Amino acid sequence: MIWNSGWRLASAVSRAGGLGIIGSGSMYPEVLREHVRKCKAATALPFAVNIPMLYPDVDKHIATVIDEGVPIVFTSAGNPATWTGKLKDAGITVVHVTASVKFARKAEDAGVDAVVAEGFEAGGHNGREETTTMVLVPMVCDAVQVPVIAAGGIADGRAMLAAMALGAEAVQMGSRFVCSEESSGHPDFKQHVINSKEGDTILTLKELAPVRLMRNRFYEEVQQAYATCAGPEELRRVLGRARAKRGMFEGDLEQGELEIGQVGAALNDILPAGTIVTNVMEEFVEARRKLATLDIA
Ligand code: NDP
Repeated sequence: MIWNSGWRLASAVSRAGGLGIIGSGSMYPEVLREHVRKCKAATALPFAVNIPMLYPDVDKHIATVIDEGVPIVFTSAGNPATWTGKLKDAGITVVHVTASVKFARKAEDAGVDAVVAEGFEAGGHNGREETTTMVLVPMVCDAVQVPVIAAGGIADGRAMLAAMALGAEAVQMGSRFVCSEESSGHPDFKQHVINSKEGDTILTLKELAPVRLMRNRFYEEVQQAYATCAGPEELRRVLGRARAKRGMFEGDLEQGELEIGQVGAALNDILPAGTIVTNVMEEFVEARRKLATLDIA
């Protein structure tokens, strides 16, 4: 959710009854502080900050969330053992995002309060194992005692109910909120997601950090590099710097990195975040009602 989830989106989701999350991976330390303060001013309800462990100034982000009294932190893309203790000592609830059973166990051993089990369908950084949400969530639920939050491919209430049937206690949704009015993503990026079809996203760059993105000219350049048996160094050169900003924030649909989940193909509208939360809950209730009418005797 880098470049998409700032204080505006996070506070709108929290006000609607969800838990809004600020994506800090694209923010300089002083920018994160500003977003946290604006989020606190916009809602008295709890919200969270996601901190990717591979962020270059991760220690500064950790200091900011502690100083500012952020109640919940989602850590991702790295070792949960590094910061969980410090965050917990500060009274913060810690959730770690994992894409495999092995890392879910590691997160539990590190003392986290919950884990996100995020499947292969998800946008952005993703697991190397390519385990789908349908397969991953029950495996993680069987492997750990802490609550499991399902993610990857969930954009409506039907999928939320399905995730809960698999054992999850909650769901995390990204792509659906990229296409919200409050997302800070570029309008052209949001519209591009709305126009997208099945098969338009792909998981690539496993040699660096696996990422699901939309196929475009930049992706073709990555493919050309693979065709010449490029190693990590050459792939890093092709990736260059600030591709994600260029694509998702500046709206360069050809040369930017456009991170979105497979479920982007199912999205048809850009809605206020509060409407998305309300719709998901109504769809969830309706799907549960329908299931209850199944005659399975
Ligand atoms: P790049 O190295 O290609 O670019 C860095 C980008 O992050 C630039 O756009 C820069 O903004 C911005 N930035 C914010 N804070 C800092 C900082 N302290 N030092 C340097 N740059 C900073 O990385 P990515 O765009 O791929 O990712 C940026 C961060 O987001 C990384 O920490 C990464 O772990 C995290 N992240 C990436 C995801 C992905 O799938 N790419 C998903 C989730 C998190 P400016 O151009 O204004 O200098």
